[in-house]
Amino acid sequence: MTPSLVPIREKVEAGKRLSAADGEALFASPDLLSIAQMAHGVRLKKHGLTTYYNWNLHLNSTNVCEANCLFCSFARLKTGMSQAFTMSIEDAERWIRERYRPGMTEIHIVNGLNPDLDFDYYPSLLRMIRREFPELHIKAFTAVEIHYFAKKYGLSYAEVLSVLRDAGLGSLPGGGAEIFAERVRRKICRDKASADEWLAVHRAAHGAGLKSNCTMLYGTIESPAERIDHLIRLRSLQDETGGFQVFIPLAFHNEGNRMERVPPPTAVDDLRVIAISRLMLDNIPHIKAYWVMLGVKTAQTALLCGANDMDGTVTEEKVYHMAGSHSPDALGLSEIRRLITSAGLSPQERTTTYGTVHRAA
Ligand code: SF4
Repeated sequence: MTPSLVPIREKVEAGKRLSAADGEALFASPDLLSIAQMAHGVRLKKHGLTTYYNWNLHLNSTNVCEANCLFCSFARLKTGMSQAFTMSIEDAERWIRERYRPGMTEIHIVNGLNPDLDFDYYPSLLRMIRREFPELHIKAFTAVEIHYFAKKYGLSYAEVLSVLRDAGLGSLPGGGAEIFAERVRRKICRDKASADEWLAVHRAAHGAGLKSNCTMLYGTIESPAERIDHLIRLRSLQDETGGFQVFIPLAFHNEGNRMERVPPPTAVDDLRVIAISRLMLDNIPHIKAYWVMLGVKTAQTALLCGANDMDGTVTEEKVYHMAGSHSPDALGLSEIRRLITSAGLSPQERTTTYGTVHRAA
């Protein structure tokens, strides 16, 4: 182990919280294997060999978005542009019905910030899912979307969340956080919720009893210090509310967007971010290796570097495939279990809120 890591290892072994300076020292160290070993040790203490996955479906019902994030390959600025789409509630029902299989437990919904829709579209979408597919937990709308609804329709976050929850919303996904540092947000995603607004939506959701997830987009133009700042802001909110379930680092992809000249992160970057996240986020229970972003093989390796969740079957992910992700469109349950088992770990199917799913073999 390189000497700069020794005091950090002592803190980790004593269960002490790492500082921003520790985080920056971890990013500065070339000793990935020692960092991964420390993170895997923390993961084993928290979860043993148990490695979670779920059986889910991703729906994007509109990609029309008036924000214009530089890294985004999914959105189209206006209705009517090539590849822009907006599903009616009936289209969405048909789309889900074609892909739904009995036993699935979750639907994950994220959309663009569509200026042409009435607010009622969103609760109507949730009510349709609750009525037609009552077994699905609905994890829907990023904090960026909730902020947009509040601003556009003149409601408070609490009011938006209350209407959506009454219509069937079960929890919030973690997207839209990108990187909290103002310097970076101004350059890559200036038209949407600020860092403070993103955090305020999650604070409101947790206050309303909804669990949520959190993310960090890495590999664009942020510095290691800005990554650590992001992690520490998430950790602080978690100290306050305890409402985050899982942290999901999201690797930047550079195809089909306006950041094509920025090289995407390498596998070593990916594993380093996973491991450092596990070490810094001592109060967030789970770290997810999202195979859609990382690729299946790096995601499997990440399970030995601090991650303890592989996400789900997904089924037709669009947001990252339109940005050049070459991972498959969906993974079967048996393939996810095989990946986990062949890493020497124990697969456990979970609900969205980390309850255990028991299935007959
Ligand atoms: S990242 Fe989200 S908010 Fe930004 S352009 Fe894409 S869909 Fe819109």
